[in-house]
Amino acid sequence: MIDRQSSVFVAGHKGLVGSAILRRLDSAGFSDVRVVERKDLDLRDQSAVNAWFETERPKYVFLVAGTVGGIMANSTRPADFIYDNLMIHGTVVHASHRVGVEKLIYLGSSCIYPREADQPIIEDSLLSGPLEPTNESYALAKIAGIKLCEGYRRQYGDDFISAMPTNLYGPGDNFDEMNGHVLPSLMRRFHEAKDEQQETVEVWGSGKAKREFLHVDDLADACLFLMDNYSDLEHINVGTGIDHSIKELAENIRDLIYPEAELVFDTSKPDGMPRKVLNVSKLTELGWKAKIPLLEGLSSTYDWFRTAKAKGEVRE
Ligand code: GDP
Repeated sequence: MIDRQSSVFVAGHKGLVGSAILRRLDSAGFSDVRVVERKDLDLRDQSAVNAWFETERPKYVFLVAGTVGGIMANSTRPADFIYDNLMIHGTVVHASHRVGVEKLIYLGSSCIYPREADQPIIEDSLLSGPLEPTNESYALAKIAGIKLCEGYRRQYGDDFISAMPTNLYGPGDNFDEMNGHVLPSLMRRFHEAKDEQQETVEVWGSGKAKREFLHVDDLADACLFLMDNYSDLEHINVGTGIDHSIKELAENIRDLIYPEAELVFDTSKPDGMPRKVLNVSKLTELGWKAKIPLLEGLSSTYDWFRTAKAKGEVRE
């Protein structure tokens, strides 16, 4: 187990994942958790990151910072997605090596796998075929991050591990209708449609694409579990192993927020990958399983959204 009294750096603490990691570290009794605001440290700047690490000298690092977004943001801002992520992974991993960080966990994404990978996707599918074009820039940066951690382990023996989460959701997500991922975007659209008493709600694509959804508190729990129990070269999938069609997801969100609404599928928008569900046997064999069922997670996330919206705290 990693030492609860030692210093821990969470890179990206304001994001969906980072804020969940902070909650999890707090509940596990970590007493020295360090964070830094974006205005005080640009994680894409290697010399600034080196200087910060030399002063702070964290023992453990959760590398969960990055530029993220849904299918539209990914396809329209490929430069930001590849540049920001390549740089952030590079600077933090390198600086961690320089100051002798004892253990680092890096988070990738299930979009690293080939579009035609066999489903549920096993870890070994990496680099076995072409990527899904709608998120290729992001996926390439994330693959580089895996190889970066592998490289520092192979060459220097650094204990840097990689976890590949599936599509995430939960409190603190980006609820922007255009740039967010499907789950928060639809939540917002149904919420507003109800406010305005609209009869129909638009869902992008055919509704037939299938995705797996993991609550971010489950992910944070898995990250701590891996920091405590896993030290190996190969990246490891984190998910529920269960997928749902987008139509099914949209119906669940409709039933929760605005049951009277009728769904309208906009097939001019891309479906992206036809199916994306992870094989999670490796993690299950280590002894970890997701605990939050989708319907429960949808309901608590919607409660969070309403409260945060009333306080003007929703990221968009
Ligand atoms: P992806 O897993 O990288 O494709 O990420 P997304 O969460 O952005 O999209 C998942 C699927 O949901 C795709 O098939 C989208 O076409 C579909 N989708 C349906 N409605 C929406 C929406 O309002 N926003 C987004 N982002 N996706 C939507």
